Amino acid sequence: MPHNFLSRLTGSFAMPAAENPTVAMVEAAYRHHGLDVRYINCEVSPEKLGDAVKGARAMGWIGFNCSLPHKVAVIPHLDGLGESASVMGAVNCAVRRDGKFIGENTDGKGFLQSLRPLTDPAGKTVVMFGAGGAARAIGVELAFAGAKRIIIVNRDAARGRALTDLLNGKTKVAAEFVAWTRTYAIPPEASIVVNATSIGLYPDVSGRLDLDVGSLHPGLVVADVIPNPPRTTLIRDAEARGAKVLDGLGMIVNQGVIGIKYWTGVDADAGMMRRTLEDLFKA
Ligand code: NDP
Repeated sequence: MPHNFLSRLTGSFAMPAAENPTVAMVEAAYRHHGLDVRYINCEVSPEKLGDAVKGARAMGWIGFNCSLPHKVAVIPHLDGLGESASVMGAVNCAVRRDGKFIGENTDGKGFLQSLRPLTDPAGKTVVMFGAGGAARAIGVELAFAGAKRIIIVNRDAARGRALTDLLNGKTKVAAEFVAWTRTYAIPPEASIVVNATSIGLYPDVSGRLDLDVGSLHPGLVVADVIPNPPRTTLIRDAEARGAKVLDGLGMIVNQGVIGIKYWTGVDADAGMMRRTLEDLFKA
């Protein structure tokens, strides 16, 4: 049998790139599944993003992730967009299909995939703290998954209103904005709570949402996007009040699982990928 020394190529374009753990998780999955695919973590400045995408085309890459600050700027360099990426106006995963790079967004899809084993958002009322990129991705996917109502609680009113308008204008969900000017109590009709702010991200490990902890209860699913450390103050408070919890590792792992599926068609082992990240964050 002739040898094939030509690996398929994937990777990531971001700046900074050195602290992005995705490469370790995705390459571990490729090895685990015996795939001859590589994932190359590249630091790409905003001025060089177009050249990087041209390079990926020239080298026949099957796809790539892009992280901050490229999620919006990459769009003009691609050949088309998937449905939710086009509603969000942000791409974090390009997939080569029929020789074209199509932009997808796996942030919100990864969140949904990790939420589903705990609850189906269809028909539910969700409280979401934050209105940045992560909140936009999660809000759009929750709406597509049939959530009935999303209450966006955000400190900056302009950003909060912009996300509320986007959801009301482009999806079927009923979105409303609450200015986060005082301690917020979860209303009784809510069944899912999401922290999509950066509160709690290392090194702000003792950061705490301005939330009435007494309004958390066993009927809630409480999810946090913060992957490091995964056991945030919110996750611990919610657990102590009997709520079901979902940490930010689930989102990061499932976003990797979805990217690998898009690029290679293989359903990667999420448990194995999660253990890889847990070991990294412990170190
Ligand atoms: P953005 O900068 O776009 O948005 C940050 C959000 O956090 C804004 O809504 C901002 O509010 C809010 N915020 C920040 N600090 C405070 C504070 N002290 N009090 C109240 N609100 C605050 O960031 P992203 O949306 O891109 O990322 C948010 C978090 O999501 C990051 O920490 C990142 O780690 C995580 N993330 C996790 C992923 C995963 O796979 N697990 C994937 C993507 C992101 P305001 O508008 O008022 O400034």
